[in-house]
Amino acid sequence: MRRSFLNYARAGALAGLLAMSASAAHADTLQQDLKDLSEKQIEDSVEFAFGNALFFMFHEAGHLLVSEFGLPVLGREEDAVDTLSTLLLLEADDDVFDTALIDSVDGWTFSADASEAAEEEQALWDAHGLDRQRAFNMVCLMVGKDPKKFKQSADDVEMPQNRRQECAGEFQKAHDSWFGVLKPHLRTGDKKSKFTITYKPAKTKDLKDYVDLVKEAKVLDLLSELLSSLYVLKDGIKLTAAECGEPNAYWSADEREVTYCYELMQYHTQTVAKYFREEESGDNSESASNESDEEESSTKPTISKNIIGTATPRK
Ligand SMILES: [Zn+2]
Repeated sequence: MRRSFLNYARAGALAGLLAMSASAAHADTLQQDLKDLSEKQIEDSVEFAFGNALFFMFHEAGHLLVSEFGLPVLGREEDAVDTLSTLLLLEADDDVFDTALIDSVDGWTFSADASEAAEEEQALWDAHGLDRQRAFNMVCLMVGKDPKKFKQSADDVEMPQNRRQECAGEFQKAHDSWFGVLKPHLRTGDKKSKFTITYKPAKTKDLKDYVDLVKEAKVLDLLSELLSSLYVLKDGIKLTAAECGEPNAYWSADEREVTYCYELMQYHTQTVAKYFREEESGDNSESASNESDEEESSTKPTISKNIIGTATPRK
C-alpha cells in the first residue's frame, strides 16, 4: 500500500524538522524548553515531538474512519484505533514513520514513568489502556511485523521473548481485519477528498513557537494527504490545530473535526528535554526516582491526567 503520501511525508516532514531545529534558536518558549541541550538533542527532541504528533493524528484518524464509515468496533475503540494508528505507520514502511513509532513507544514510557514518579493513581477505569499497555500494544505490532527492525523497542520495554513470538500472528490478524474493513472505502479514482486545514493562532504568546513548529512540520497536511490518498471520504472534514488548554488531540463526530492541540507538541518536547537533562546528570537509572521528591517535581512538565488521544463522546 505504498502511496504517494509517503514521498510527501519524507520531504515535508524532514524539511519541517530541519527548518525547525535551525529556527529554534530565535524562539522564546521553545528555546526555554530546549535550554541547555546540545544541537543533536534539540534535533532529537523536535523529531520526538513530531513523531508523537504523527501517532496522535493517526489515532484520531482512526476515530474519524470509524465514525465516517460507520465501521464496527468489537472491543474498546481506543485500543482499536491505537492499533490502526500503528498499522498505518507500519504500512508506510518509511524511515520517518518507523521513527515516529519508536518515538511514540518512548512517549508512552516517559508518560508512565512521570505518572509513577508522581504516584498518580492508575486510571483503570479510563477508556484508554494504561500508558505502558499502550506501549506494549504498539511494540507487539511492530515486532510482529519486523522483529529485527524493532528489537530495540521491545528490549526497551522489556517485552518477554515468548510474548514477542505471539506478536507475528497478532500483527497479521490486526492488519487483515483493519485493512479488510477499510478496503471498500479505498480510493480508486483520481478525485481526492477535500479537507479544511486550519492552523489557528495561539491565544497565549507562550505557545507561538509551538504553532510555528506544528505548522512547519505540516502535521495537519500530512494527515490530510494520507487520508485523501487512501480513502474516499465526504468533503469538508476539518483538520484543526489549536490552543486547547491541555495537551490533547480529539475527533468530534458532530463537527467532523480533528483537533490537535499545540500543548501536546509542547508536552512531548518538554518531556524529552527533561529526559535528556536527567540523562546528562546521570539521573535516569531505575532507582533514581526513589528519592527525587520535592524539588524534582517542580521541574516536571505539566501533564494533564488523562492525556491523550480521546474521542469526544459520540452519541
Ligand atoms: Zn482516542
